[in-house]
Amino acid sequence: MRKETIAIHAGYEPDEAVKSVAVPIYQTAAYAFDSADHAAALFNLEAEGYRYSRISNPTVAVLERRVNDLEGGVGAMATASGQAALHMALINLADQGGNIVTVPQLYGTTHTLISHILERQGVEARFAASDKPADVAKMIDENTRAVFCESIGNPAGNVCDIEGLAKVAHAHGVPFVVDNTVATPLLLRPFEYGADIVVHSLTKFLGGHGTTLGGAVVDGGTFDWKANGKRFPAFVTPDKSYHGMIYAERFGKSAYIERARSVYQRTMGAVLSPFNAFLLLQGIETVALRMERHTENGRKVAEFLRADSRVDWVNYAGFADSAYKPLVDKYLAGRASSLFTFGIKGGMDAGKRFYDALNLVTRLVNIGDAKSLACHPASTTHRQMSPEDQLKAGVKPETIRLSIGIEHIDDIIADLDQALGAATGKSTFAKAAE
Ligand SMILES: *Cc1c(COP(=O)(O)O)cnc(C)c1O
Repeated sequence: MRKETIAIHAGYEPDEAVKSVAVPIYQTAAYAFDSADHAAALFNLEAEGYRYSRISNPTVAVLERRVNDLEGGVGAMATASGQAALHMALINLADQGGNIVTVPQLYGTTHTLISHILERQGVEARFAASDKPADVAKMIDENTRAVFCESIGNPAGNVCDIEGLAKVAHAHGVPFVVDNTVATPLLLRPFEYGADIVVHSLTKFLGGHGTTLGGAVVDGGTFDWKANGKRFPAFVTPDKSYHGMIYAERFGKSAYIERARSVYQRTMGAVLSPFNAFLLLQGIETVALRMERHTENGRKVAEFLRADSRVDWVNYAGFADSAYKPLVDKYLAGRASSLFTFGIKGGMDAGKRFYDALNLVTRLVNIGDAKSLACHPASTTHRQMSPEDQLKAGVKPETIRLSIGIEHIDDIIADLDQALGAATGKSTFAKAAE
């Protein structure tokens, strides 16, 4: 099936008894066993079925299959939020003494997770000088457990060279983990270019309506744990926390995702509720149509801003002169994200006046909603970072991050136009040439 069809059908067929067309919400904590032997088989992961909703749930399982099929993986695990997905995706690879090599352009909380929280647990954070594969390669050594990037950085808007980064990771026997939240599998499937693990915040474009937090880890099934057993003993030696299970033996290609569930989801419990899985499934049904409109509206807004003399700069990867345009063409079929940043003339103060004058575009910290959204990262999402780290992550004091929604383009532009007027005292669209 094509992605548009997968988004609507994958992972669910009406059951024989009820024939519910909508995915049922199995609002249950636990599942009845037929017998002691049946229970034992479930606990040994020998029988198919459910035991307790911290491990798995039938509604959540439909969402997991749908996200998995959209990405083209061998298995997925849904989580309570994107941040929970990132945390478990990374600690499933790296523990004390290991390091994670990452590009510098990261979502603020992910930057904090890697540079502070995991560091405290003995995992070294290694930030490459840029997102270029050559800079990333320099940071990898025998203790590296993962190479990490966001396929499209939030909010930097950079587009990573997925194929190039996969090559440098694999040259060292290291798996490549990609946060594909901003691109979504509709624009890019990282597995097709060599990624091994894909992570999502489903809260954003996939869910698409700003109602529900959720995350997912997807296993591409491509990394050879046995061949790299020295670097990843946890996958090839008996697990004392799960009656001696050897994940690479027992699960083969899906060792990574099964271990994520059996070890980390089981003990950390960052599970998605069945109701939230249902809401996210509703959103995913229309993601293909929404991404078309998002990217089209995003391009029109970027062009409008660039042509306006009240605007200082627009950082939109889809412009012909953007350094990222060749990567937009290669990885995103020419469709740059509707998430991008710009700066108004007059610096921080004018930026704040613009922000406060918005009427239709909502002031908040979220992206990927059907509604157009704006954020001032320096005072919100990236506030915890030093000014130097903010700059490396692509955040200047005046930066406004836009996530352009699917409203009528004329209404979006009218609102931006009046807010630019309120911020600068120049009340109408002013051509750059003036
Ligand atoms: C929002 C976001 C996250 C975190 O997801 P939550 O669902 O808010 O926990 C991680 N990565 C990126 C790129 C994001 O945009």
